[in-house]
Amino acid sequence: MTPEEFRTIGHQLIDWIADYRERVGTLPVMARTAPGEVRAQLPADPPETPEPFAAILRDVDRIILPGLSHWQHPSFFGYFPSNGALASVLGDYLSTGLGVLGLSWQSSPALTELEEVVTDWVRRMVGLSEAWSGVIQDTASTSTLVALICARERATDFSLARGGLQGAPRPIVVYVSPHSHSSVEKAALLAGIGREHVRTVACDAAGAMRPDALDACMAEDRSAGRTPAAVVATVGTTASTAIDPVGAIAAVARAHGAWLHVDAAMAGSAMILPECRWMWEGIEGADSLVINAHKWLGAAFDCSLYYVRDAEHLVRVMSTSPSYLRAAADGQVKNLRDWGIPLGRRFRALKLWFLIREQGVRGLQERLRRDLANARWLEAQVRGTPGWEVVAPVHLQTVCVRHAPPGLTGEALDRHTLAWADRVNRSGAAYLTPAVLDGRWMVRISIGGERTERAHVEALWNTVRQAAEEDAAS
Ligand SMILES: *Cc1c(COP(=O)(O)O)cnc(C)c1O
Repeated sequence: MTPEEFRTIGHQLIDWIADYRERVGTLPVMARTAPGEVRAQLPADPPETPEPFAAILRDVDRIILPGLSHWQHPSFFGYFPSNGALASVLGDYLSTGLGVLGLSWQSSPALTELEEVVTDWVRRMVGLSEAWSGVIQDTASTSTLVALICARERATDFSLARGGLQGAPRPIVVYVSPHSHSSVEKAALLAGIGREHVRTVACDAAGAMRPDALDACMAEDRSAGRTPAAVVATVGTTASTAIDPVGAIAAVARAHGAWLHVDAAMAGSAMILPECRWMWEGIEGADSLVINAHKWLGAAFDCSLYYVRDAEHLVRVMSTSPSYLRAAADGQVKNLRDWGIPLGRRFRALKLWFLIREQGVRGLQERLRRDLANARWLEAQVRGTPGWEVVAPVHLQTVCVRHAPPGLTGEALDRHTLAWADRVNRSGAAYLTPAVLDGRWMVRISIGGERTERAHVEALWNTVRQAAEEDAAS
């Protein structure tokens, strides 16, 4: 494709995306695709000869689009909001179009320096002190893996430079909550901690990790000759946006010499609102934290912000410096390959830079405040309707509900919950994800889509009540 051809087809594709964003609200939110249905429509063999671009775009419409659940749909209330604001979509385009790689500062100086600037902008936006430095990773899963590797290396006095964990004299232990995201356990296992050394700490009734229980677990491990290495606290859990008490957990972690990583992948965006910052009170006592800018904030996936207090430690754990990557400027600049796992990095900072500049901090704050108000509105409706309950505190934009008509309990209640959620999803009018909380199914209504206004939440509440009544009557 020549640049001239790209200009023509690229304009068509931009038009296609703009049209898609305009009409996405008219499509069924959840894909109604059967397993294998998309693959069956595509040839097994790649084309031998070039195909016209028009044929490719036709297949996008005909095969790909019907096989998608629409995350940018204003009635998408599933999982969590993952807003790809159009300004950030353009930033992503530019990154790909430039086709530059950050292997080192020298390989694309602006790539590194813009990343330093935008991660520092976000640091200021969420009210963190200057002690923190940030870097962009792909996902929270990677950020948390990096955190636990750093914790492991601190607890073992850099075992990687010797025999690794295999040569370590004492087992090291990581502490999580039953409500931690699945990526936390995965990170602990991949970091070589071993399932036997991942402790699940008890929570209170609101789903928050109990610092006294953490302290007791750590003391027990220490007296048994094991080393408490890291605690992962969550601000805004995936199922119910529960909030672990960061300050109290930090004090316990510090007393036992353990690393504290804070998973604020979802709720971190809300910290741009001063009225929400109580949720991570004590954050300055943590060692590392992750905020997914690709969730509620609006940076197109993927854009996970990883912040550390001791950047020197991070670099010591992550750096390798082969001769072809060394440059004269190395002493004065950051080489972001030493801030995470991959060597090559995309110019992800562009999409965040575009987003923040196009919206302004105030624009982002106003959108998040709108969503918080919509969640409070829905919470009030649910609480005020007989037969309905709100099953977890509504701290943020997620409202966890159950329809429990009199006489319906236990497994029958679970069946009803899953059945009405499925009715909603199959209707195409909205998309919700059920989850288990304290052993029983409930339905999470995750508000926060960029285009989700009060009217969409009102319509959802009607759809939900109708689906539950229909299922109860069936
Ligand atoms: C979304 C989420 C994750 C995982 O995020 P990825 O970027 O997909 O790895 C981890 N923790 C919490 C609390 C989340 O909300």
